[in-house]
Amino acid sequence: MIKILVVEDNELNRDMLTLRLQRQGYEVDVAATGEEALSKVEQYKPDLILMDMSLPVMDGWEVTRALKKNSDTRSIPVIGLSAHARDIDIIKGLDAGCDAYETKPVDMLRLLEVIQSIVGNNKNPS
Ligand SMILES: [Mg+2]
Repeated sequence: MIKILVVEDNELNRDMLTLRLQRQGYEVDVAATGEEALSKVEQYKPDLILMDMSLPVMDGWEVTRALKKNSDTRSIPVIGLSAHARDIDIIKGLDAGCDAYETKPVDMLRLLEVIQSIVGNNKNPS
């Protein structure tokens, strides 16, 4: 089963994303802070990370940069999620190492398509 780590400090958003991803057949773990995200990545070894960029203390840009600097975690795709929707924000997200960047409020159908396009081809790895 494809494992997705949802990094989101807002509990309602976190629960909503988790539920909708589980309904699609994904296995989900969650992190509420940037620091927690880094330790969860090590333990849970997700196939994909959904990263809220606006997190307190250590934000999503910082976490993504740290993950992409580390050779153990570099290859895990990160989809940045942010209410910041200007071109400059998208460029900033991709610059930090995000493999894709979606704006909030999340268009779930679109997000599922992006996830599918990234992990879809190995949905049932042997
Ligand atoms: Mg947030």
